[in-house]
Amino acid sequence: MAIDYLRLSLTDRCNLNCIYCTPLEKGRYLAREELLTHEEIARAAGAFVKAGVKKIRFTGGEPLIKKNVVELAGMIKAIPGLKELALTTNGVCLAALAGDLRKAGVDCVNISLDTLKRQTFKRITGADRFNEVWSGVQKSLRAGFRRVKLNVVIMNGINDGEIAEFAGLSVEYPLTVRFIEFFPVNTRSVKLTGALLPTAEVKRRIERIYGRLLPAGTVKGGGPARGYSVKGAKGGMGFISGRSGYFCGSCNRVRMDCSGNVYPCLFSPPVHNLRGRLRSGAGCAELARDIKNIFLVKSEYRKDSASAGHIEMSSIGG
Ligand code: SAM
Repeated sequence: MAIDYLRLSLTDRCNLNCIYCTPLEKGRYLAREELLTHEEIARAAGAFVKAGVKKIRFTGGEPLIKKNVVELAGMIKAIPGLKELALTTNGVCLAALAGDLRKAGVDCVNISLDTLKRQTFKRITGADRFNEVWSGVQKSLRAGFRRVKLNVVIMNGINDGEIAEFAGLSVEYPLTVRFIEFFPVNTRSVKLTGALLPTAEVKRRIERIYGRLLPAGTVKGGGPARGYSVKGAKGGMGFISGRSGYFCGSCNRVRMDCSGNVYPCLFSPPVHNLRGRLRSGAGCAELARDIKNIFLVKSEYRKDSASAGHIEMSSIGG
């Protein structure tokens, strides 16, 4: 599988404190000098594109709290050869930024939203910010993005009662709702025992209400999601079964965090750090050579989530 997709974590900080994501040892953030500057991120991104990457996604931490993120989006979008710039966000700052991000060249937005209830939102994220996120969803739908998706991590006993409502959003709005299996992978998420609800059960509950879902084939830009829709719906649905399904064979992605660590697999350790090379003035061709060498060893590092050790989604960005 060609590696043509880079997930770029812009920061290890977040403005939410989710019960399944933010580490219990919150507060141990990277020092300023360890973080890549905008110029370094753009040079690294340029080298990834030279090595074959066609799509870049900003993630985090929360990418929209990164200073001057709109300007950074413009710098990345200007890289010749890049076909798509996407963003995964918790949506808290999106209402204010959606229009500018679109103008700067962001093509697609994924918004992580696990509940439609203000109280449950507070319970999951530690913050009373549901209304801001919902207004970010609405603004995004009007901003002209190519695709808007909602990422919903379903947790048994916490938000599984809302599966039908989320499916209903895909009928009402031109967006894709993606149901994601919960991974118990860090010190905090492992405490949520019994929270995993397999995709097959989520789908069964939706079909009980909406009838048989229509397979949508491969969703363009859908990554590991299997696509479906309800007949006559404005949008679609996707299911990401990181726990019960195994999709390493079709993985086309690589990750870089905000300090320049490159991860061949979400569940692998970083195999290389580009920061030193960037700071010693390495050119694009030289960096692209390093990156191609990482692509070559990607398959040796692949792991499924069930055999993964401890990982922090909150800094690698999912
Ligand atoms: N702050 C941004 C956001 O909320 O979308 C980007 C970073 S966040 C770590 C990226 C995605 O990882 C989110 O959709 C989040 O729900 C997902 N995620 C984090 N921890 C997870 C876990 N334990 N299981 C499944 N998904 C998880």
